[in-house]
Amino acid sequence: MRTAVIYDDIFLKHDLPTHPENALRLKYFLKSLPEFNIPVLKPKNVSYDILRAVHFENYIEDVRISCRENAPGFFDPDTYYGEYTFDVALMAAGAVEMGVELLLSGKLRSVFCAVRPPGHHAEKGRAMGFCIFNNVAVGAVKALSLGAQRVFIVDFDAHHGNGTQHIFENTPEVFYFSTHQYPFYPGTGSTKENRSNVLNVPMKEGTGDAEFQKAYGETYRKAVKSFSPDIILVSAGYDLHRDDPLAGLEVTDSGIEYIITQILESAEELKIPVLFSLEGGYNLYALERCGRITFRKLAEFS
Ligand SMILES: [Zn+2]
Repeated sequence: MRTAVIYDDIFLKHDLPTHPENALRLKYFLKSLPEFNIPVLKPKNVSYDILRAVHFENYIEDVRISCRENAPGFFDPDTYYGEYTFDVALMAAGAVEMGVELLLSGKLRSVFCAVRPPGHHAEKGRAMGFCIFNNVAVGAVKALSLGAQRVFIVDFDAHHGNGTQHIFENTPEVFYFSTHQYPFYPGTGSTKENRSNVLNVPMKEGTGDAEFQKAYGETYRKAVKSFSPDIILVSAGYDLHRDDPLAGLEVTDSGIEYIITQILESAEELKIPVLFSLEGGYNLYALERCGRITFRKLAEFS
């Protein structure tokens, strides 16, 4: 088996049970994992130099002090923190860093980082939208530091990954491709923001499988092939599912399976590894089904 899940129980210690982004999400997402013969690896803490290449040092320090001295609280109206949040967020970023290392050393073909808090809204100097540190951005910087020439990020979360786009829009070695509901939180992600290394494919509320099949079967496949990356990083947010309570897209289980399959097939075609990192997804039962679909596909492709 050349796939693995990276997970640690520490990811459950950042929690607010009344908030949609709570620890139960991860438990449901991983419920089906024992059905598959996929090894689970423990992450290690993120390297400070890599984290500092993504986020401002004073922001990292603000997060640390808030969690150590002022917990619990909120960084913005959506984004809570508790006494463990700093440590949990370091480990979430560290899981993605470690996944990239394992993939680029050739030990694995695919990795799923089952992490919380999510990352794609986190800006260089600001927590936002349930996100503290930008996990996928840490993975991209790590990949470049290990000699990757080009990194392709694909983000299928229902929300636009403003943080990821902003961190890399002036970095031609990193390509950001995103499908997301638009107009919608966080307000970014229109086609006007597209440039040579940013491709936003906004979707109206109510968009379902057919449009997503076009976006992943055609637009994504063409973009990733022509960029010719050394690794694909996936912001895997499952709130595009029709049962999600926060977003208004209408993607079914089979639509999600199609997207995962396209991403895995593109990695196979280009003979490059692929890392998934959990972002959103707030219906527990849909998360369980999406987890099963994802793990089955990872096992099939490994
Ligand atoms: Zn989302």
